[in-house]
Amino acid sequence: MKNLLKLQELDLEIEKCLEREKEIPKRKTKLEVQIQRLRAELEERHKKLKDLQLEQRTLEKDIEQVQNQIQKYQQQLLSVKKNEEYQALLHEIETLKKQISLKEERIISVMMEIDEAKVSLAEDEKRIQNEIKGIEKEFSVIDEELAKAVRVRKEKEAQRSPQAALVEPDLLAQYERFRSRKKSALGVVPLRGEHCSGCNMAVPPQLVNEVLAGKVRACNHCGRILYSLDKVERNIAPVTGEMRG
Ligand SMILES: [Zn+2]
Repeated sequence: MKNLLKLQELDLEIEKCLEREKEIPKRKTKLEVQIQRLRAELEERHKKLKDLQLEQRTLEKDIEQVQNQIQKYQQQLLSVKKNEEYQALLHEIETLKKQISLKEERIISVMMEIDEAKVSLAEDEKRIQNEIKGIEKEFSVIDEELAKAVRVRKEKEAQRSPQAALVEPDLLAQYERFRSRKKSALGVVPLRGEHCSGCNMAVPPQLVNEVLAGKVRACNHCGRILYSLDKVERNIAPVTGEMRG
């Protein structure tokens, strides 16, 4: 029974490792999402600057067009005969000139915004690159943790069959049957008073007596192998569920 308990302890440690091997990569996925978000943020900043630069170019082109129009009107002024037409053209030219000065004002503020955007882009770029570097460092820590979990599991797995060989075949078969049925659960549990500590159900007195007498019996509710803590010397490290190594 002691050997079986040691085997169970090994199995639990192997299970813990396998769980960790499943959980650890999930942390990486979270960090990858974080990196994507940071990259998108940087993209957004670049786009803001580009948009402003585009607006500046568009305004400059607009002004050029309006200036061409003004020149045309000024040419027409030379050939106009009627005073009313002359006044109308002058009025048109004035309106266009006002449009130009509005656009020029807008260009000045766009250029200021561009300067600000450039400064903050440089800062953001630095900050975001640093954050990404930090995350990549975390990646390598996670990779190491994963490698360690795999290494510990392999060590435990190597110890498993020599340990299993020490267990009485019938007992071992019973234990393996329970484990293959229930997957990850304790297959061997102590009696707690007159209850099975695996499923917490009451064990019939007859069965309790047999277990106390040192016989190998399974709980009639959950099928776990029962043992008496008094019978098994407590020189076995209690199963804490903690991973070692
Ligand atoms: Zn039970």
